[in-house]
Amino acid sequence: MKIVILLLFIYTAALSATKPKIVILATGGTIAGVGQSSVTGQYQASKLPVENLLQAVPEIQDLAIVEGEQVCQVSSQDMTGEIWLQIARKVDEVVNQADVDGVVITHGTDTMEETAYFLNLVIQTRKPVVMTGAMRASGSLSADGALNLYNAVALAASPQAPGKGVLLCFNDQIHAAREVTKVNTTNVNAFQTPEFGILGYIFYGKASFYRESVRKHTFRSNFNIKEINTLPKVAVFYSHADFDSSLIGQSVKNGIQGIVFAGTGNGNPSEATIQALARSVKNNVSVVRSSRTGRGPVTLKAEVDDEKYGFIVADNLNPQKSRILLMLALTQTTDIAKIQQMFFEY
Ligand code: GLU
Repeated sequence: MKIVILLLFIYTAALSATKPKIVILATGGTIAGVGQSSVTGQYQASKLPVENLLQAVPEIQDLAIVEGEQVCQVSSQDMTGEIWLQIARKVDEVVNQADVDGVVITHGTDTMEETAYFLNLVIQTRKPVVMTGAMRASGSLSADGALNLYNAVALAASPQAPGKGVLLCFNDQIHAAREVTKVNTTNVNAFQTPEFGILGYIFYGKASFYRESVRKHTFRSNFNIKEINTLPKVAVFYSHADFDSSLIGQSVKNGIQGIVFAGTGNGNPSEATIQALARSVKNNVSVVRSSRTGRGPVTLKAEVDDEKYGFIVADNLNPQKSRILLMLALTQTTDIAKIQQMFFEY
C-alpha cells in the first residue's frame, strides 16, 4: 500500500514538473463582473477577486500550474498611466522568475488594447504575455469569460507563443497588441485587427498561428520601465467638421507635452487647426497626426507639409495607441526626427 502511495506521489510530482507555470494577474473588468440576473445587461464590473476567476475554471489546472495575483481592481475606462506602470512592473517581476513560463492578464475590454500595446513596448521578454477578459458578466447566460480564460492560459502555455509580443486572446481568436482594436460595444466578438487580420485561432485550448506582427516589440523594444517613473501628458483630439481649434491652445496652456490629432482621412487637420498645431510645436509640444478612419497609414507630406510645421505622422497606429507611443518616446527625446523614426519602427 505504501509503495502504491509513493508511486502515485512520484507520478503526480513528475506530471506537474512537466507542466508549464502560468501566472494570472487580475486587474478587473467584466470578467470579474457580477450581474443582477443571468439575462440582464446590467452588472457591476471589477468585483470578483482572482481566486473566484480561478475557481470558476478548474480546467485550467490541467493545462498548467496556475498562480493568481490581484494587481488592481478597476474597470478599464479608469485605467491610468500610474496603473500601467504598476501592472508593467508586476509583469516584469513575474517574467523574470526562472520557473514562470508565461503570464495571463485579465482586464476590462474597453482599454485592453491600450494596456496590451503599452506592455508590448515596455516588457522585455520572449515569454508569452496574454491578455483576456469578457463581454458578459460571470453569471450571464453564455458568459464568455471562462472559455476566454481557459484559452488565454493555454495560449500562454503554448510552445508557439514565445517571442510573438503581447497577445490578446478573445472569442477564440489571437490578436497582436499593436494592431488589435475594440470594435463592438456589447458583442462577444468585440475585437478585430482591421488592417491585417488575426494572428491565429485558439479552439478549446489548441492554438494555430498564421502570421506575426513584424514591428519592434517586447524583447526588441528599447523602452524600459526601469527608467520611467511618470508618463508625459499627451492628449488626443478627435477631428470633425468645424473642429474648435482653440481647444488646442488651451491644452498647451494647461501644460500638455504632446498632442495626437486624430484627423480626418489621411490625418488631415483643418487650416485653422494646422496653425494651432504649428504654434504648439513652437511651444515645444510634440504633434502627431493620426487618423480617425481606422485603416491605412497617415503619410508624410500629402496634404500637410509636415516638415514645414514640425509634425510627426503616426503611420497606421490608431490614435489611442499613438498616444502611448508618443508618451514613451517623450521619456527619451523631443527630437522630431527621432520620434518619427519610432513611429515607423514600433
Ligand atoms: N467597461 C468595463 C471595462 O472595460 C467593463 C467592460 C468589459 O470589461 O468588457 O473594464
